[in-house]
Amino acid sequence: MPLDDPVLMGPGPSSCHPEVLAALGAPMLGHLDPIFLDELDETCARLRQVFRTDNELTYPVSGTGSAGVEAALVATVRPGSEVVVGVNGYFGERMAEMADRLGGRVHRAEVAWGEPLGADAVLAAHAAPDVIALVHAETSTGVENDVAAVAAAKGDALLVVDAVTSLGGIPVEVDAWGIDVCCSATQKCLGAPPGLAPITFSERARSRRVARPTSWYLDPGPIAAYVTGDTGRRYHHTAPVPLVRALHVALGLLLDEGLEAVWARHRACGDALRSGLSKLGLEVLVEPAAALPQLTVVEVAGAFGRGQGEAAARARLRSELGIEVGGGVGEYAGRVWRIGSMGHGASARNVVLLLAAIAEVLGR
Ligand SMILES: *Cc1c(COP(=O)(O)O)cnc(C)c1O
Repeated sequence: MPLDDPVLMGPGPSSCHPEVLAALGAPMLGHLDPIFLDELDETCARLRQVFRTDNELTYPVSGTGSAGVEAALVATVRPGSEVVVGVNGYFGERMAEMADRLGGRVHRAEVAWGEPLGADAVLAAHAAPDVIALVHAETSTGVENDVAAVAAAKGDALLVVDAVTSLGGIPVEVDAWGIDVCCSATQKCLGAPPGLAPITFSERARSRRVARPTSWYLDPGPIAAYVTGDTGRRYHHTAPVPLVRALHVALGLLLDEGLEAVWARHRACGDALRSGLSKLGLEVLVEPAAALPQLTVVEVAGAFGRGQGEAAARARLRSELGIEVGGGVGEYAGRVWRIGSMGHGASARNVVLLLAAIAEVLGR
């Protein structure tokens, strides 16, 4: 039997703090219970702090990160909208697919896997798009795209950013950069269980949003009444109460530590991981300037062999040493490992543990 309390160092979910897990076992409350509504209000206020925004319409979408991305796009993309989508990895591809299904005219701003996207590629894709959609932290490649530069060059477009793997790991400045819709997920750098997708809409995005999106469930309009309490708290759908309570605790821990301190901790762990992997003779793929500290992509085909070799080594890490890392997807399948150092799991202890474990599996 593999160890049942693994150290999670893949692309998510990440390991949770014990206080976050304890919140999952708290007594059940109704979704209109005053105690719960206070916690929900405070959770939204904490999300504003983490997103660095004053946006009123800020809340956790019920569903995982993908639901957040879809909520952002159904609210901004109409049939015939000109949509520029940044594509340099698996998650950019998925945004292009979603925008296409909504009837948007998709223009791909594309660079190779492993390269970062900046304003040039986005501007070259279309002169005056209605919407620009960009992944901030490309979890398939470990690359950070230059959201600040794209935001500065967005013109009249609404900028939609997938900050699923960046929020709580590296700076995300919704108001200062000028992001219109920013969405994330709880199980990566925020250190909560999977199942919620924090999202925030600028006033500009709110006033220009699609009036009757094709998704009833994800439409931010009616949910706004419940989360902001503006027109009284009305039932829209049952809030996933335990997940909101766990997120409330996770965000409290994050803000107690301080957002800047949390970014510095992720940076220190990412740097230590990169240098340790290099010392083990493994090649880290992304150039340092664009490399995400919270998600490191390392070439392993040479060390363990492609396909079965790397998969067997990963399985051994999990079964014998109790550590989970991620394999490659898309172009990188069978070729790389994706190592997460996220949220509560971003610790010097875990970095040292993993490097020792990899040395063991490599037989050094
Ligand atoms: C993980 C991830 C998603 C999808 O999130 P789920 O919670 O798996 O639905 C979307 N975008 C990026 C960049 C991710 O890393």
